[in-house]
Amino acid sequence: MLSPWNDGEIVDIQDEAPGTKRFYIKVPAFEKIDFKPGQFMTFDLPIHEKRNKRWRSYSIASAPNDTNVLEFVIVLLEGGLGTNYLFNQANIGTTFPMRGPQGHFTLPEIIDKEICFICTGTGIAPFRSMLLHIHRHQIPHKGLHLVFGSRLKENALYYREMAELAEKMPGFSYHVALSREKSPDWTGYKGYVHQIYESIYADHRDAYFYICGWQNMLDEASERLQNMGYQRKVNIICESYG
Ligand SMILES: Cc1cc2nc3c(=O)[nH]c(=O)nc-3n(C[C@H](O)[C@H](O)[C@H](O)COP(=O)(O)OP(=O)(O)OC[C@H]3O[C@@H](n4cnc5c(N)ncnc54)[C@H](O)[C@@H]3O)c2cc1C
Repeated sequence: MLSPWNDGEIVDIQDEAPGTKRFYIKVPAFEKIDFKPGQFMTFDLPIHEKRNKRWRSYSIASAPNDTNVLEFVIVLLEGGLGTNYLFNQANIGTTFPMRGPQGHFTLPEIIDKEICFICTGTGIAPFRSMLLHIHRHQIPHKGLHLVFGSRLKENALYYREMAELAEKMPGFSYHVALSREKSPDWTGYKGYVHQIYESIYADHRDAYFYICGWQNMLDEASERLQNMGYQRKVNIICESYG
């Protein structure tokens, strides 16, 4: 059964990158919000008369933290009804109904294999939640890779935080692929996420691949991984943004 709708109130909005903001939303009905890293909330935004045309889902980007405030990282979509409302009409103090947490895109009960998190853009949201949670609770794991892709360095979401996490979290490696960065200051990888995980797992060792983002990236990554011998459901777990 789905959890009921409760009002959420925007308590802060921060710029994360051009066209991408962090929204901090409080749900006063709860003292603290219990959720599993990787889950999402559904927002009922005032953008249409029909209820089901007003619903938009957003992955929780924060880790469970014993408060009733959740963080989301949202990209403005040109012509998108929901994101234009959130970016251009909503403000601190705005309230709307929210439902959740929902979804099964969550960590295994016991992390018994390496995990490779693959994402582009705001697809990093569930992985940030998982990584902060693993780090905070020192959850045993077998090795973690975050493979993030965007066009430009300025769109590398949570870049500093993830780079710092990789320095202090044993067994965690952070890889960034920038497809259009021209600056000579960028000495990292230029290209797409696909070549990175294909190279890390060139030996085809056992691992889970969690993939999050837009459907075309998911399809390509899933196909490439299957060509490498990995199996859907066993090794490949996807969350599609649409
Ligand atoms: C489980 C889940 C979690 C999600 N989490 C996030 C999140 O954390 N952050 C986030 O920014 N978004 C997230 N999304 C996407 C979000 O729900 C909306 O689809 C998105 O914000 C666009 O809404 P909109 O009303 O502005 O656009 P709409 O008016 O609904 O969009 C119009 C059309 O454009 C398509 N579209 C939307 N964005 C893109 C894109 N970038 N590339 C190609 N086609 C696109 C949509 O599928 C739709 O057909 C998530 C979606 C799901 C299902």
